[in-house]
Amino acid sequence: MRRERGGGQRLRRRQRQNPPIGPEEQGFTFALAGNQNSGKTTLFNQLTGARQHVGNFPGVTVDQKVGDILRLKGAHLVDLPGIYSVRPYTSEELITRDYILNQRPDALINIVDATNIQRNLYLTLQLLEMRIPTVLALNMMDEVRANGGHIDVEALSEGLGIPVVPISASRNEGLEELLHQARRVAEERILPQRMDFCGPGPVHRCIHAVSHVIEDHADQHRFPSRFAATKLIEGDDALACRLGLDDNERELIEHSVVEMETECGMDRNEALADMRYSFIQELCERSVRYGEQNRERRRSEAIDRLLTHRVLAIPVFFAIMLVIFYLTFNVVCAWLSDLLAQGIDGVAAAVDHALTDFGLNPVVHSLIIDGAFAGVGSVLSFLPLIVVLFFFLSVLEDTGYMARIAFVMDKPLRRIGLSGRSIVPMLIGFGCTVPAILSTRTLSSARDRRMTILLTPFMSCSAKIPIYAVFAAAFFGGNSALVMLVLYLLGVALGIGMAHLGNHTLFKGTSAPFVLELPNYRFPSLKSVAILLWEKARDFITRAFTVIFLATLVVWFLQSFDLRMNPVTDSADSLLAGLGRLLTPLFAPLGVRDWRLTTALVSGLTAKEAVVSTLGVLLAVPMAELPVALQGLFTPLSAASYLVFVLLYTPCVAAIATMKKELESGWATLVAVIGQCLFAWLVAWLVYLLGGLVV
Ligand code: GDP
Ligand code: MG
Repeated sequence: MRRERGGGQRLRRRQRQNPPIGPEEQGFTFALAGNQNSGKTTLFNQLTGARQHVGNFPGVTVDQKVGDILRLKGAHLVDLPGIYSVRPYTSEELITRDYILNQRPDALINIVDATNIQRNLYLTLQLLEMRIPTVLALNMMDEVRANGGHIDVEALSEGLGIPVVPISASRNEGLEELLHQARRVAEERILPQRMDFCGPGPVHRCIHAVSHVIEDHADQHRFPSRFAATKLIEGDDALACRLGLDDNERELIEHSVVEMETECGMDRNEALADMRYSFIQELCERSVRYGEQNRERRRSEAIDRLLTHRVLAIPVFFAIMLVIFYLTFNVVCAWLSDLLAQGIDGVAAAVDHALTDFGLNPVVHSLIIDGAFAGVGSVLSFLPLIVVLFFFLSVLEDTGYMARIAFVMDKPLRRIGLSGRSIVPMLIGFGCTVPAILSTRTLSSARDRRMTILLTPFMSCSAKIPIYAVFAAAFFGGNSALVMLVLYLLGVALGIGMAHLGNHTLFKGTSAPFVLELPNYRFPSLKSVAILLWEKARDFITRAFTVIFLATLVVWFLQSFDLRMNPVTDSADSLLAGLGRLLTPLFAPLGVRDWRLTTALVSGLTAKEAVVSTLGVLLAVPMAELPVALQGLFTPLSAASYLVFVLLYTPCVAAIATMKKELESGWATLVAVIGQCLFAWLVAWLVYLLGGLVV
């Protein structure tokens, strides 16, 4: 379903190129662009309701949300990623640029946070260069008014050369007019009236000189020449190739740029930024009267004195995460998951009973009860966890706190080549790797996202706690808390080490740059939160019944049959046990020599808790006696080595499935999984080896 979007998009475009049947039948595609936290999601949800499809932009794992506009029949709205500029820093900026230039939406709705208008207009000026019919949606007007501010919409509209509509997305104000204007510019193909944003001077001369050089090329490639000119001045080499400029032309351009740099005394990027900001400043002086008492700003600053405090910010952040974790895992989920598990057990028992009465073949019976119900049921019991965690996360995101976390954590994380936003998935990884990987979607570049996805499994997930607990009780009696702490820290340290390594090899380059402007704290829109939760839940349930269902069936099969395909009574004869035995020699260097221990590792791939339950079944002891039973199979050292392996090897099927979806590559996932197992083995081996020297 994910891949269809691009195709569907093209299909719609093709249909549109056929003679239109009538204005109503003619489907418009509007694209929504704006800064992060400008109210994009709120506006999108207001205009499309919950009727939206999430797909991906072609070739990347960035969400492309498309929705039918409720109040305008046949019109679609595409949500572009939140960005601050159209320079090709991040994949989001590239996506926005490529989408606008290649797909050419019928109109662009540029949403601007009116309380932060100067900063937001910076993107607007760049969008205008792309020569697409554009409407400016001036959002958060309720706040501007409440602060006693005023924006002269006419003057703004005239200065920018596009219609400007004051709106309040969260209060549903002004949206009719916005749609009306969007439709008007789309229907009449009204391009932005103005493209010159600079007064006479060196920058102006340079842009004109460059435009002149590339004019023919740009026309030939149907590329807006003004946009191409500024991008070339900024040093976009890819574009120079794409336009097919020859060496001579490139030299001419470089010459003009150097001339401009010397005349302005600024480098090329500074000169262009300066040009845009001067224009914006001059425009805002004419059209914006700032409120006397900006209540939101003052309130935000007061809150920020604590939340971004030099010393307290990080402890406060960890405290907030701790509370969220406590509420998610211990309070809400313990209760909800139990309830759900009981429900599923109830249904399973009823079905079990009915099937027995019916006299169904015992193998098929086992398939349904031990395979389907046990497998999908255990995964579905994760659902409350995912939903609750995402509820808290979306509140953090929408209130504007996430931007602060990213800001605070940016500096330490940048040292290992990540950006501040990666901290959230990493922390969630301590709870469960699946939502952690899903939450990497909040990261602002594909590189950061991939790196973080590979990093999250190092954060020891909560499903591993039962394993640690059993082993700690068996081998490290007095020091079990210490052992757990060491394991957690080992995971973090190795994760950081790997990120550092990756930063210098696989993921060369810098993390997405960071914009310091912090949005005001705002109350999240319940509608947006609800829609987000529904999307997550739907996604997860779909996966539970597809990928995970299949995987549990495979494990059931391996557990229930022997090599000759006869159903087994003793699990020691099963294919799974055979597989475990096959792996035993591999684990001998770690001091792990019993086939039951390796079998438990294999079944741990379905879910980490399964390591403990499988050991219980294979050793034929009740849970309470498991520690004692294990003592016969391990020395403390080999137990430590086994635990380290458990800490580091591939999380579980659910995590692998999520990883595959987010990395959008089966190969990359396979390599990652094999890599994780090899790495786990290597570290566990080192522990066994070095431990042997010390002990
Ligand atoms: P996005 O990051 O651009 O998708 O922004 P969101 O839609 O998540 O909005 C950011 C925050 O601004 C949320 O807390 C919204 O509830 C809030 N918000 C959105 N539109 C308005 C508005 O018109 N007025 C006010 N006061 N708040 C708004
Ligand atoms: Mg959003």
